[in-house]
Amino acid sequence: MNKILSAKAMSAALITAAAAFATCAHAQTASTPTMTLLVDESQAARRIAFVHEEIRVRPGSLTLAYPLWIPGEHGPTGPIENFAALRIHAGSATLPWTRDLDEITEIHVQIPAGIDRITVDFDCLLENTVSDHQILLAWNSAVLYPLGIDKLQLMIEPSILLPSNWQQGSSLAVTGRADNRVNFAPVSLERLIDSPVLAGEFFRAVPLSASWPAEMDITGDSQGAVDNANDANAFQLFGNLIDQDHAMFGFRHWQTMHILVSQSEARSFDGLEHEDSPYNAIGDAGLSKKSQLQKFGWPLLAHEQSHSWDGKYRRPAELYSKSNYQGPERTSLLWVYEGLNEYIGWLLATRAGFNDPEYMRDYIARTTANLAGEPGRASSALVDTATENWVIRTVDSGWSTLRRDQDYYDEGGLIWLLADVQIRKQTQGRLSLDDFMRSFLGQRDTGPIVAPYTREDVEAALSAICPYDWHAFFETRIYQVNAKPPVEGLEAAGWRLVYNATPNNEVFDSELNLITYYGAYSIGINVKKDATIADVWPGTPAYDAGLGPHMTILAVDGQAYSDDVLNAAIAHPTNGKITLLARNFDTVKAYEIQYAGGVRYPHLEPIPGAHDYLSEILAPRSYK
Ligand SMILES: [Zn+2]
Repeated sequence: MNKILSAKAMSAALITAAAAFATCAHAQTASTPTMTLLVDESQAARRIAFVHEEIRVRPGSLTLAYPLWIPGEHGPTGPIENFAALRIHAGSATLPWTRDLDEITEIHVQIPAGIDRITVDFDCLLENTVSDHQILLAWNSAVLYPLGIDKLQLMIEPSILLPSNWQQGSSLAVTGRADNRVNFAPVSLERLIDSPVLAGEFFRAVPLSASWPAEMDITGDSQGAVDNANDANAFQLFGNLIDQDHAMFGFRHWQTMHILVSQSEARSFDGLEHEDSPYNAIGDAGLSKKSQLQKFGWPLLAHEQSHSWDGKYRRPAELYSKSNYQGPERTSLLWVYEGLNEYIGWLLATRAGFNDPEYMRDYIARTTANLAGEPGRASSALVDTATENWVIRTVDSGWSTLRRDQDYYDEGGLIWLLADVQIRKQTQGRLSLDDFMRSFLGQRDTGPIVAPYTREDVEAALSAICPYDWHAFFETRIYQVNAKPPVEGLEAAGWRLVYNATPNNEVFDSELNLITYYGAYSIGINVKKDATIADVWPGTPAYDAGLGPHMTILAVDGQAYSDDVLNAAIAHPTNGKITLLARNFDTVKAYEIQYAGGVRYPHLEPIPGAHDYLSEILAPRSYK
């Protein structure tokens, strides 16, 4: 997943293994699935779906589970709050059910003697609707499954009922369509949850011209949005992306890649990885806009699909140790799953042409400056941000530099940059991290399986490419507190962090974080479009002046607040000070900021005389 995706964090109740409950469902072969699952999305525009299941059972106690730990979301985020109106029947007889008192995603029901089949109906509220013209069905939100059968062995025959005249795309095999009902071939619970369905009134499937079989499945809020999806050459860019995957990883773990893209202002930035059907949400008609393709190239479009190798095929064993979806799982190795994938996204998006190197350097400078500005670095190791990832994913931005952010993404990326340069230097340019990616993440062609790994496996695979003390390399930078700014990788790659008055590019998550003025690098505050302070960085002039998050700036040096007025005051302070009038709860007060440093934004500049590894790293490669 990308780091801004708004996973609905649930309370972190620890869920014990399902083995404690005897199950009375049958595990079946693929030809006789244990259950059928019909999701009625005909009322999708009203934000409701109706689920109907038939499950083969034996008499006795049965436990049914609603998936809690969702792959790619890295936490107990299954939307149990939107699971409602559960009804269980054996024929015409209603079977009473009870919710487990400890594990609230588990349902107990007693199956009477002589019963070999039950029906389960429930409603799925407020999930999966993208807009009134499209849905993205995440099957985990619409399935209640019998515990006690391994997720690879539990076979399910799924169907979806669509609104009239809608079409759909996914990596599931269609076995038939009757009116608006689409039937799919039976799959395991694991494959089902990894195979979302994108459907819409305006839909288009486009084969990509690439060295591996791939297609794009596209929805939009108008016919024009899908008809014009190639106006900015998007199909060529995605084809390039598949070719750059091929060059980097060498092998694949799927037959055909389905890149799912929904275009809607109602869901303008979202995404989730899947083995062979990564999901991306961009703004209305986003595929036809060069600016959108550039803005979302590395953090979304390249990132989600490269998880097919880093995160799906290869996954930390601690995130893949259970036979079901009830957890708990451990997330400390996200510095590989997400950190390495962040680095891969920087590389692939630039190599494929979504972003040019200058655009990437602008982002890397900004994120490095943000990381360097965190006082929390002096008390928390980077790994801690991975271990607690799901509780810091959706927090308020106030004082975030003390808590630290989801730094395992970008600081992870910078550490992998340093590893890449280390390999290039040590092997005199013969080898690079691409060789590790091929040996560790590509490995060989397989079907859609998961090959788990440990930290020791990562370090051994790196050592096989380039002998080095990789354990100490990661120990000092990830597992121990490291207060130094994370500039080692950049400087080894020939670039250094500098500040000047040139503003940075628009941030990819600007529509979600609502920040319109980035003053953190000068006076120490970022301001949202409603003039409230998103955050104050400790140790800066604004912090020393007494300002705090959520205060609303009313005026700057006597002028009504606007971003331009604040920027002008920072550029030319009067007598080395800027006076902000701010409201905090019911108090209005003046805050005097002592500052004369001018407007400052972070950028990268080449280190004179240094080898420019970064430009080599970002250059396209041949897959032949
Ligand atoms: Zn990700």
